[in-house]
Amino acid sequence: MKFKIVSKGDKRSNKIKSTIKQYLTDFDLEYCRQEPDLVISVGGDGTFLEAFHRYVHRLDQTAFIGVHTGHLGFYADWLPDEVEKLIIEIAKTPYQVVEYPLLEVIIRSKLDKNESRFLALNESTIKTLEGSVVMDVEIKGDHFETFRGDGLCISTPSGSTAYNKALGGGIIHPSLPSIQLTEMASINNRVFRTIGSPLILPKHHTCMLKPMNDRSLIITIDHYTKTYENVKSIQCRVAKEKIRFARFRPFPFWDRVRDSFVAEGDF
Ligand code: NAD
Repeated sequence: MKFKIVSKGDKRSNKIKSTIKQYLTDFDLEYCRQEPDLVISVGGDGTFLEAFHRYVHRLDQTAFIGVHTGHLGFYADWLPDEVEKLIIEIAKTPYQVVEYPLLEVIIRSKLDKNESRFLALNESTIKTLEGSVVMDVEIKGDHFETFRGDGLCISTPSGSTAYNKALGGGIIHPSLPSIQLTEMASINNRVFRTIGSPLILPKHHTCMLKPMNDRSLIITIDHYTKTYENVKSIQCRVAKEKIRFARFRPFPFWDRVRDSFVAEGDF
């Protein structure tokens, strides 16, 4: 089996990276940057997102696992103290794989036929620095509303505990292939009206966002941010690709939600 380690780059993460690399190569596993079967991220959720995007072109062949060197992460859920146990489990391959849904985003331009396609593990957000975002929201080809406000967030189930949660979105179990649309400070008065509640769309229900003014848009895909001019539409739906996590022990989603957000003994 071929493996690759993506480190956050700080001293602690780099030390853990060298330990894992040394032990796994001693177990005759091959360190491979180009075509790893397993990518081990060492750092935090940000490092995991970086590792995911580095190998996003080979999701069907690469599985991911995260070790955290800061506070408990959502994707980085192995403790530094557990690294030796993890190494032994990896060396014992084969391992179990758990798949989570991803978000597909296609950005089309008004100027040409070019389109840019992205996959997000957490979410995509659309904002502007120039006043309000004004966008027609279409669901399955039908006009749903005209949004006016700070922006919109479209998240995956596993990303529902990230930015989406801060916007009042619901937490969705990753066994439900879906995307969630949440508003950022929508303007609601006698003239402008939006639904005001997060919308959860199942697989095959495409959401099309069509900017109604000429503002430049700041579009994020996970931790990446880019400014776009002349955007014709932003198409969002559940991607056909999935992320594959290597599972060496059970760590149910709701346990992770509880451990991350609900203080122990707080009942
Ligand atoms: P960062 O360093 O600002 O970290 C953001 C925090 O989000 C970290 O504590 C991280 O552990 C946590 N996080 C990331 N993914 C998560 C998930 N799926 N569930 C629960 N918590 C999660 O930024 P970063 O590390 O580069 O991560 C980028 C992510 O930050 C974005 O994808 C977005 O979800 C999140 N973010 C959140 C807010 C907010 O909550 N208001 C604002 C901007 C970005």
